[in-house]
Amino acid sequence: MGEHLNIAIDGPSGAGKSTLAKSVARELHIRYLDTGSMYRAMALYAMRRGVSVSDEAALEKILGDADIQVRFDERGQRVLLCGEDVTDSLRTQELGMGASTVSKHPCVREKLAELQREVGRNYDVVMDGRDITTNVLPNAKYKFFVIATPEVRAERRLAELRLRGNTAETYDSVLADIKARDLQDSTRAYMPLRRTEDSVLIDTTELEPEESLQKVLNVISEKGSR
Ligand code: C5P
Repeated sequence: MGEHLNIAIDGPSGAGKSTLAKSVARELHIRYLDTGSMYRAMALYAMRRGVSVSDEAALEKILGDADIQVRFDERGQRVLLCGEDVTDSLRTQELGMGASTVSKHPCVREKLAELQREVGRNYDVVMDGRDITTNVLPNAKYKFFVIATPEVRAERRLAELRLRGNTAETYDSVLADIKARDLQDSTRAYMPLRRTEDSVLIDTTELEPEESLQKVLNVISEKGSR
C-alpha cells in the first residue's frame, strides 16, 4: 500500500485556512479535515458534562467518554459526538474560544492528534489547524502557513457571521476575539502555533481566495515535479 498524500496547513484563526484547504481538496479530489471542529466538539462535550474547559484534571476524567468521530459524506466532513452529528452547531464564537482553552491541555491534544494522524494514514487529505505542520503531520509532503492581518481577518469573520444572520457581534468584538485567540494559541506551553522552516508562507491579506489557491497549487505542482 502506497503512502497517502498529506497536505498540512496551519495559521491563526480567520486567516483563510479553511477556505483554502477546502478549495485545494476540491481541486485535487481529496478529503479535507477541519481539525478545529474536533476541538470545538471537545469543548461542547465538556460544557454538556458541566466541566470547565480550563480544568485539566476534570477533563482528563471525562476524556475517555468523549467519543469524537469524523465521517465523510457528500456534504464533506461530519463530526459525531457520542454518535450525534454536531457539525452544524460547532461554529459559534463561544465554542471557538472554548476550543482554544480546551486545546491547551496536552491530554486533549494527544487524543485528538492521534485521531487526526489516523485520517492522514488512511486517506489523501488536506488538514488545517494549529499544529498540523509541527505535530500531527510533521512529515507531510506539502506544508503551508497561512496568515493575514488581524483587521482583515476580523472583517472577513464579521461578513461570514452576517451571512449566517448573526447581528450580535460587532467589528470590535470580533477583532478582540481574534486577538485573544491569537495570543492564547501562540503562547500556550504545549504545541503553540508556530511556523516551521519548511512551511511555505501564504499571506492572504491582499489576495482573493482564487489567488491563494493558485499559489498553493503552484507550489504543489512545482515540488511534485521535482
Ligand atoms: O480553527 P478553529 O477556529 O475552528 O479552531 C478553534 C480553536 O481550536 C483554535 O483557536 C485553537 O486553539 C484550537 N485548535 C488547535 N489545534 C488545531 C485546531 C484548532 O489548538 N489543530
